[in-house]
Amino acid sequence: MHAAQRAGGRGPHLFRLVALMCVSALALAGCTSDRQAGSQDPGSVNGSIALVPAHGGIEGGNLVFVDAGWTAEEAKGVSVTATFGEAAAKCSFDEKVNQFACTAPARMAPGKVAVALAADGEPVEGSASYAYTTHGAQDAPVLTINTALLQRNATAIQDDYPSGVLLGSVLKNGEPVGPMGKAISEAADVDYFFVPKLDDAIALRDAGVTSKIAVMYLTKIEDIPLLLHYDIEVAATDPAWVKEAEQALSRTDGELAVHLWIDTGMGREGVLPEDALPLAQAIEDASHLKLVGIATHFCCITENDSAALLSNDMTNQTVLQKNRFDTAVATIRDAGLGENAILHAGASDVLSHDLEPLYYDMLRVGGMFFVSSAPDEFIYSWKTSIGQVKTLPQGWCIDYTCASQTTAATKVGLISHIPSRDDTITFSVRGTQVPVLLNHGTVVTLDLTNVPDAAVGDEVTIDFNEDLGYLLDATPPVPVTL
Ligand SMILES: *Cc1c(COP(=O)(O)O)cnc(C)c1O
Repeated sequence: MHAAQRAGGRGPHLFRLVALMCVSALALAGCTSDRQAGSQDPGSVNGSIALVPAHGGIEGGNLVFVDAGWTAEEAKGVSVTATFGEAAAKCSFDEKVNQFACTAPARMAPGKVAVALAADGEPVEGSASYAYTTHGAQDAPVLTINTALLQRNATAIQDDYPSGVLLGSVLKNGEPVGPMGKAISEAADVDYFFVPKLDDAIALRDAGVTSKIAVMYLTKIEDIPLLLHYDIEVAATDPAWVKEAEQALSRTDGELAVHLWIDTGMGREGVLPEDALPLAQAIEDASHLKLVGIATHFCCITENDSAALLSNDMTNQTVLQKNRFDTAVATIRDAGLGENAILHAGASDVLSHDLEPLYYDMLRVGGMFFVSSAPDEFIYSWKTSIGQVKTLPQGWCIDYTCASQTTAATKVGLISHIPSRDDTITFSVRGTQVPVLLNHGTVVTLDLTNVPDAAVGDEVTIDFNEDLGYLLDATPPVPVTL
């Protein structure tokens, strides 16, 4: 196929992550923008400004120490103001630290901004970069999404896309959904966005996405006001849900667009094929519901499917699913229903295997937007650094209960605050993947035997297991209350 191919893709399965990205070409420029120095600069000594911390959540409100190299003497009596991107920040001198501390302003979306200072109203030479992240976890290593590559993938998909087929973009790899969708829609003409949950759909609207948006899987009746307000479509998965939805909608002037979802052999969302007609009829009978799509999802696409589809080999699971789908659609249409509903079933695997008989009116493409096309360029980059190095003696206990013991003297490196309970992620130091001796999340002990020169401060690349695909897990951070 084309550049945005599955091979070389890397992926998934992180429990919770901190994502950051430069949101658009504009914001990207902001990532590196240099602020020109003013003529009269009372404070600056070296033209560079250090920020501690250099990243924080988009909600702002956290303290950021700005160090332009002033001595306490130089700083005395000076009034310092800061801008984080376009936003002004309040700063005051911290007597204990002998530095100025500014309160980070909030920002709409994750991304990097330039921070500039002014002393007594005069610009201070130099600038620093501050990264706004989805969650304010300051200790966790920041995951950066390569928006430019995401957009290049989107363009490549569009350039090689079958004509006459609508482009559906599936975003189910976690935050930040809004800016990612916006970036994709700036690079390609996306007809539909498909997301797993309402929050994601709202995030897309908040980011300015104007394409159609549909929530896949299940939707709660109580969310109907939000669906109408944000102009979001949903999956209709059984007649009882349709009846309840109609009841809730009857109090409104709105019309809810739904996609009739059929489970053709995956055991997940949708009605069984024989229940598709009753569901279509229920939607027809509900005056506030409109049938705009009929959908299914293939479980088991393989490279054998092309030949199997040609010979209509019903022992092949994809052929079986296609036949069930086609039969259900024919039954619905024979009853005079769903004539204008668009049919959609295939995902990235259907497109990458060129399985034309499965294209229907639209494909729902997810992972293909997130593949990496070169070994040294990745959609996701997640890095931290070694905080401590030591050599454990032979026979040293590892973990509570002395779960294991070193069999020889072992050089180890410690890293911390890896916000994942996923033991499928890997760690590399100086280009070498290193085994994990102990992973307690807050502290991870890496076995550095194969990197004898490794030292404190060395960069550690955190990577995803390619075998699991190339999408990060969409599992959101757990909401907590007291
Ligand atoms: C995940 C998903 C897709 C997209 O699959 P990819 O393999 O990521 O392209 C499409 N449709 C449904 C229902 C999905 O759950």
